[in-house]
Amino acid sequence: MSYDYDLFVIGGGSGGVRAARRVAGLGKKVGIAEESRYGGTCVIRGCVPKKLYVYASHFSEHFEDAAGYGWTVGETSFDWKTLVANKEREITRLEGLYRKGLEGAGAELFDTRAELRGPHEVWLKNEDRIVTAERIVIAVGGTPNPHKDLEGHELAIVSDQAFDLTELPEKIIIAGAGYIAVEFAGIFHGLGVDVTILYRGMEILSGFDDDVREMLHEQYEEHGIKIITHQVFSKLEKGSDRAIRAHLSDGDVMDVDQVFLALGRVPMTDGLGLEHAGVELDQRGFIKVNEYSRTNVGSIWALGDVTGREQLTPVAIHQAMCFVATEYLDRPERPDHELIPTAVFSQPEIGTVGLTEHDAAEKFRNLEVYKATFRPMKYVLPNRQGKMLMKLIVDADSNRVVGAHILGPDAGEMAQLIGIAMKMGASKADFDRTMALHPSAAEELVTMYEPTYRIIDGKRQDD
Ligand code: NDP
Repeated sequence: MSYDYDLFVIGGGSGGVRAARRVAGLGKKVGIAEESRYGGTCVIRGCVPKKLYVYASHFSEHFEDAAGYGWTVGETSFDWKTLVANKEREITRLEGLYRKGLEGAGAELFDTRAELRGPHEVWLKNEDRIVTAERIVIAVGGTPNPHKDLEGHELAIVSDQAFDLTELPEKIIIAGAGYIAVEFAGIFHGLGVDVTILYRGMEILSGFDDDVREMLHEQYEEHGIKIITHQVFSKLEKGSDRAIRAHLSDGDVMDVDQVFLALGRVPMTDGLGLEHAGVELDQRGFIKVNEYSRTNVGSIWALGDVTGREQLTPVAIHQAMCFVATEYLDRPERPDHELIPTAVFSQPEIGTVGLTEHDAAEKFRNLEVYKATFRPMKYVLPNRQGKMLMKLIVDADSNRVVGAHILGPDAGEMAQLIGIAMKMGASKADFDRTMALHPSAAEELVTMYEPTYRIIDGKRQDD
């Protein structure tokens, strides 16, 4: 049987582009289709523009702190349109690099929507033509949950639009308290917007270590970000003076310029033609894959956010690399999802690797918890309030560090490096014998000699 392509990839985001580029680089005939812009969520409407906006929003703090260091800063002003335009220039540059990388490797790019028509068949919408491929990779990613059950949801924005608002709002409510809500709350606050987070649960950032969650909550409130917990919207409607009138579940009403829904992401499987090939979904609607990212159909693989595994760019790229090694290099590799370092670019930032205290206490019977909270040196002269947190969780029986949680400036950068040590199986003794780098915040990680408390059989024991 001969096919038009050795590999056809649907979706030009992090996972899809990596798979297409690597396989084309091996001399195989590869096609890739993207209906929006190459680079996908991360480059176009996610990680990259988000980080640029985080940098932009830090300046208000830098200007405030300058006086403590002897600087006089003149009158400052912020122009949202300039930021949006500069961001656009940068993501266009990156998009160009993605395209160039694919072309350079010899892949054929299609700027069109593509859908499955069978186990080896892909329909290209712009050309209304079906192409065939020996292997097909689905890497179409996800999209913000539009929360269609909410009356008036169409008045709200989601993260895709937040980057390109025509004007910066004066007052915004962000619903949800996960990565996106918390990061955008910091961004908008730093740019001078009045921000409220509305969360259905008890504490922001479920799934993160409780100390980190509480400390970030406290610091957000100290900065002036309002956090309303145990509540959701009951409906949204057009307001009179302000754009939107938001009704909360306890009967309160808030008039704001923007409502931002950051309530998780859903896979982009609608109309993808999965039924033509018989590709199965899991109960949550994500494409079901085995440990090698293969679907139930032998010729079709799925990578990245559409599979519902950790929704992170490096994870999608890693899954793509494993797919290439397994299918084209005769070197079967399963993606390794253990000990993924992650950061939340809140302000202050969170960096984390491994288990939370809660999860570690369920897994290990004998834990040591090391904690240091202190004011970062950088805050002292400007008299900025706010504490930094360093926390290590150690399985006392093996002495292995099983969780590291940091809140404070550059926490993400630190988590990346601790991730290496933890992946190598570092023990607490390894941390202790590592020389401190002074003066730094990170040195606290290697100078916490005595446990702050122990957890034995799930119960905290304070000495
Ligand atoms: P998250 O899953 O992180 O957070 C979703 C939030 O919405 C949670 O607070 C959740 O509450 C709440 N929620 C979900 N459904 C409802 C509902 N029906 N009503 C009310 N509240 C609801 O999703 P995000 O959208 O913030 O981000 C999506 C993913 O993108 C992340 O999980 C992450 O993998 C990735 N991402 C990573 C970033 C990074 O690496 N820095 C940055 C941004 C995104 P509850 O907790 O109670 O379920």
